[in-house]
Amino acid sequence: MLSTMQDVPLLISRILTHGSSVHGTSQVITWTGETEPARRSYAEIGARAAQLAHALRDDLGVEGDDRVATLMWNNAEHVEAYFAIPSMGAVLHTLNLRLPAEQLTWIAGHAADRVIIVNGSLVPLLAPLLPHLTTVEHIVVTGPGDRSPLDGARARVHDYEELLAGKPTTYAWPELDERSAAAMCYTSGTTGDPKGVVYSHRSIYLHSMQVNMAESMGLTDQDTTLVVVPQFHVNAWGLPHATFMTGVNMLMPDRFLQPAPLAQMIEQERPTHAAAVPTIWQGLLAELNAHSRDVSSLTQVTIGGSACPPSLMEAFDKLGMHVRHAWGMTETSPLGTVALPPAHAVGTEEEFAYRVTQGRFPAGVEARLTGPGGERLPWDGESAGELEVRGPWIAGAYYGGVGVEALRPSEKFSEDGWLKTGDVGTISADGYLVLTDRAKDVIKSGGEWISSVELENALMAHPDVAEAAVVAVPDDKWGERPLATVVLKEGSTVDFTALREFLAGEGRIAKWQLPERWSVIEAVPKTSVGKFDKKVLRRQYAEGELD
Ligand code: ADP
Repeated sequence: MLSTMQDVPLLISRILTHGSSVHGTSQVITWTGETEPARRSYAEIGARAAQLAHALRDDLGVEGDDRVATLMWNNAEHVEAYFAIPSMGAVLHTLNLRLPAEQLTWIAGHAADRVIIVNGSLVPLLAPLLPHLTTVEHIVVTGPGDRSPLDGARARVHDYEELLAGKPTTYAWPELDERSAAAMCYTSGTTGDPKGVVYSHRSIYLHSMQVNMAESMGLTDQDTTLVVVPQFHVNAWGLPHATFMTGVNMLMPDRFLQPAPLAQMIEQERPTHAAAVPTIWQGLLAELNAHSRDVSSLTQVTIGGSACPPSLMEAFDKLGMHVRHAWGMTETSPLGTVALPPAHAVGTEEEFAYRVTQGRFPAGVEARLTGPGGERLPWDGESAGELEVRGPWIAGAYYGGVGVEALRPSEKFSEDGWLKTGDVGTISADGYLVLTDRAKDVIKSGGEWISSVELENALMAHPDVAEAAVVAVPDDKWGERPLATVVLKEGSTVDFTALREFLAGEGRIAKWQLPERWSVIEAVPKTSVGKFDKKVLRRQYAEGELD
């Protein structure tokens, strides 16, 4: 029997028209580095998104599922592109501006980007790539910055505001198939070529609703969210779409991502929520310790992308910034789990232990654990295996490329269509995920596994340690052993013996897991999205740079 319900497609254009009318007075606030940030209402964003769509179609000839890329910071124009491009039926491709030149070129070619919208401040990054970007016909530049490096470019160069000027402020958004491509994002490719994940209108719509649930971020139009996580990092974790559903104001840092301006914008614009990877928050914490700021408005902070060190959570709690730890991936849109403690644990000693887990799966994400022999493992909080997930906002394949009929085959997907995450951990009977490590970062010592994350968290709890990253290094006797690289706080003179004793103290780390190799470094190398880059550390060790 068929249902009697209307079959209305779940489209990004619907999120846009809703946000820009019902929540027309909500704002996108872009930090400019001046005293007064740029403020644009959701109604204005809606009108300008329509103008942008007209310009792309009529002036630039964008049609069908053409790819329109962005090479942009988080700002109001990027939000306009987020809505205009998919709503008109084209595909938004967010380029990660921190990737090395050859990867960016490869990715833009693989996606066959026809247009790139670029912030003026990023023109110096784009210009040298242009001769290699053979599919790109148009460059649209927005905001301040020297545009002269684009002189003589083969692609036609346009000014964003000139393109929009005089265009109609409404657009007859087409009724698309909700399963069609809306946006694409490439994973940073720790092994092999980067892999393209293509989100549908439907997946983004459903994911946005999940982001808005009280068990996830649960924000309303009384909130302002500071979106530090880049719009090129898994759609800024779904925030721009989710906020347009509920009218949450967005505070966008543009290129001002250093701890000092972040602290300043929190004090001045008083966001209630913020989202970013742990390394950003470690930086902010050091800044707040050095220069006191009023951050009292910020009561909820979503931390994900890598494991949140418990010491960071504790420090934030003391400042009144309540951390919600979340896990996800490019392939999972990204929201996979959020660590809200269960009701019975709230206010008890157990509460913190729940909050430092990766969290619980929402109804839209099914999970299972698979052992080394392919066997299903129980949810008992003890059996550790690879996490596999399935759901309407989880990728089922990678993009095959232009002219390639098939999607790209990958061993990341099981025969029955589940995503193999490459993350290893346990799930408790009440559904809490605890990740011990990424499969590729686990230290395999004499047939036993040592979690690099556990060692890092324990080290970062030491008052003299600013950051710590632990990697596996080859060992004649044990196969692999941990190498601990530590960044010491300014003026600290703590030695390795003391750190080892600290790790061993109070049963924090078992004796056989204690590192015997140590190195003090200036800073932990970071990936393009601000995570610890363990590949670089392993290479530096192999090349004798870390002795
Ligand atoms: P990349 O592989 O470039 O880091 P993603 O942003 O897609 O790209 O990274 C997803 C991975 O990040 C996950 O598979 C997991 O290993 C890690 N991760 C994300 N959130 C967490 C978290 N809360 N705790 C531990 N690991 C996390």
